[in-house]
Amino acid sequence: MKELNGQKRIAILGSTGSIGTQALDVISKNPHLFKAEVITAGKNATLLIEQALAHHPSVVVISDDSQWEKVRNILQPHGIAVLSGSEALCEVVTADSVDMVLTAMVGFAGLRPTLAAISAGKPIALANKETLVVAGDLVTELAAKHQVPLLPVDSEHSAIFQCLTGEAHNPIEKIILTASGGPFRGKTRDFLSTVTRQQALKHPNWSMGAKITIDSATLMNKGLEVIEARWLFGLQPEQIDVIVHPQSIIHSIVQFEDGSMKAQMGLPDMRLPIQYAMAYPQRIGSDFPRFDFLQYPHLTFEKADQSTFRNLAIAYEAMSKGGNMPCIINAANEIAVEAFLKDEIGFLEISEIIEKCAEKGSFIEHPTIGDYFESDKEIRQLATMLIRSQVH
Ligand code: NAD
Ligand code: MG
Repeated sequence: MKELNGQKRIAILGSTGSIGTQALDVISKNPHLFKAEVITAGKNATLLIEQALAHHPSVVVISDDSQWEKVRNILQPHGIAVLSGSEALCEVVTADSVDMVLTAMVGFAGLRPTLAAISAGKPIALANKETLVVAGDLVTELAAKHQVPLLPVDSEHSAIFQCLTGEAHNPIEKIILTASGGPFRGKTRDFLSTVTRQQALKHPNWSMGAKITIDSATLMNKGLEVIEARWLFGLQPEQIDVIVHPQSIIHSIVQFEDGSMKAQMGLPDMRLPIQYAMAYPQRIGSDFPRFDFLQYPHLTFEKADQSTFRNLAIAYEAMSKGGNMPCIINAANEIAVEAFLKDEIGFLEISEIIEKCAEKGSFIEHPTIGDYFESDKEIRQLATMLIRSQVH
């Protein structure tokens, strides 16, 4: 992989989101090391234009076709090419001028461009965990075939990855992913039956996009991360534990065969795992605030409550079942979270929708990539139908 002796040119898929804007912040602070070569957004044309004028990428993509003309009229005079539509994402990641692709889009939509980038041999800084949840078998297989590194951006997976440095030949006994527990830690199902989207959107430790914030409140985020870890680190389901650690200082832990454990720690700041993935294999300096043990004399740990927060149990079950089951629960979750964010369903109904989809969706034991796309489509329709029948 390219060493940091020149500028690493990065394509950021989803530059206007929480991860995308923090990645651009890292680039701004390290202009000698990184360049935003391509930036892309779903709908937020205003921020995309602002980012393009500040970073001068070669290409921008606005997925929403209706805004293409506006973006082009402003950026073309600055020598920036403007594309639109979802196919454009698969094209821009393959350009010779791109050294690395940061996948910071949200949801299943990230799968196709990630596969295109891997096929073109581009190292991936992977934030878009849904890609690995849906098709982790095929994505990791393709990455191995093209000898493309998948560098985790998710803080827990970055922690595990950092702990594994220098341990290539030492088998992992298990890993322990830490979870903050989200805004509703310790609450009962009775309480959860009435919580609003505003309450669910208030995460205690991290400021993130809406979908992952709701996933953190339901513990689906941890469930998705368990599946993500399975593929990233080649583990069996029983090797992956979750522990609630409300302070979010220990980002995750690896336990080796001799019982020794390595943990990676730091204040919760996503810019650290983002820059670690972007600069890998080097570490680069940062002015982020430093952790002080004396400010946190009580680091605490609790069991994750899987009977109140059903989504974590559902994700473990889906991982054990295998096949397209993780794809099924991911699609159902994306639709259910969207509905919750529109106040169409209650918080507890998110798990109910997912469970119904897991029961009714067509199970495929050895899915092809085409099967994953079909399955995603089928479940989106099914979940939408289930939600409509509840609303009316
Ligand atoms: P976000 O909602 O803040 O941003 C998503 C970005 O993707 C935006 O730029 C949006 O315009 C773009 N986008 C969304 N849907 C799209 C589509 N259909 N087509 C094209 N572009 C689209 O999300 P986020 O919080 O930055 O999360 C991004 C990914 O990173 C998710 O998979 C999330 O699980 C993962 N992640 C996020 C965090 C975090 O702290 N935010 C931490 C770990 C992992
Ligand atoms: Mg995480």
